[in-house]
Amino acid sequence: MKKHNFNPGPSILPQYTIDETIKAIQNFANTGLSILEVSHRSKEFDAVMDETNALFRELLSIPEGYGVIFVGGGASTQFFHVPYNLLEKKAAYLNTGEWASRAIKEAKLFGEVEVVASSEDKNFTYIPKEYKIPTDADYFHITSNNTIFGTELLEDIDSPVPLVADMSSDIFSRPVDVSKYALIYGGAQKNLAPAGLTFVIVREDVLGKVSRPLPTMVDYRTHIKNNSMFNTPPCVVVYSALMTLRWLKDLGGVKAMEKLNKTKADLLYSEIDRNKLFKGTVAKEDRSRMNVCFVMAPGYEHLEEEFLNFAKGKGMVGIKGHRSVGGFRASLYNALPLESVQALVDCMKEFEAAH
Ligand SMILES: *Cc1c(COP(=O)(O)O)cnc(C)c1O
Repeated sequence: MKKHNFNPGPSILPQYTIDETIKAIQNFANTGLSILEVSHRSKEFDAVMDETNALFRELLSIPEGYGVIFVGGGASTQFFHVPYNLLEKKAAYLNTGEWASRAIKEAKLFGEVEVVASSEDKNFTYIPKEYKIPTDADYFHITSNNTIFGTELLEDIDSPVPLVADMSSDIFSRPVDVSKYALIYGGAQKNLAPAGLTFVIVREDVLGKVSRPLPTMVDYRTHIKNNSMFNTPPCVVVYSALMTLRWLKDLGGVKAMEKLNKTKADLLYSEIDRNKLFKGTVAKEDRSRMNVCFVMAPGYEHLEEEFLNFAKGKGMVGIKGHRSVGGFRASLYNALPLESVQALVDCMKEFEAAH
């Protein structure tokens, strides 16, 4: 039976990425060796890193003056690398969920943190709109897509201070005006590659301003200067990321991807709104295109387990909701085809007809 992969992360990747990674594991760039066993200092791997960097810049239209780096450690490591590099006195944060809360906790180790607004009062089911960004903050931190709670900031906001965004789960899902940001980071395992890779896009003029000493590996300038090869990068994962970027370029880039992502999300949200058995969990204007959260409608709560099993029987994978929301979460990342969303919608319709 065909599987429809709605996993939240690590998550579905393009078949192209998987196939090309397999080929490189068998014979990398005609070296007669596996990419698993070649030096990251080889000219063949150098070319991989260069092309990954170049395609990253091209597909996101990253302006001059920005460094793009690839490191390990996950987005969670960036929760402290960001304040380490940028927080001198005070930083402002918008608390929109679990990941934002974790970023806030780490930043507090480095200085004063002002949480300008939080949606915790309603279990993070919306994105606060009324807040003031303090002009004396060293930076303002947002989480553009809240993977667990299913809300998303679909526009690039204006900030009077350097804007920092965790884009782990929506990077490459839509065009981004990078010039509005000082720094964008994320783990690659949602929309780009297998786990093990973290990307950071940083405007170089915000670096080197804090007075604390920075360990070499923490200092972003180290990685910019060394083309992400100061130490050994996760070579295979970088290769897979490159394959996803080639696939994305072939499909027409982030503009084409945004169109497809809109279609996919609209299809599923329409069904949630139409179907008497289900209801969405977040404010409509803040609905995420990447992670769609929904629960059984009032009166039908007892059917949750039954629907999960029914959907599983139809090939749906990974739709159980996160424990802090309950119900269901369908992640519609770039590589998920429209036909998988259609299959889930059909499944919801069939289940409704049977009840
Ligand atoms: C998954 C996720 C993280 C955590 O990423 P790791 O790479 O596991 O540290 C952080 N932020 C967001 C928005 C995420 O979706």
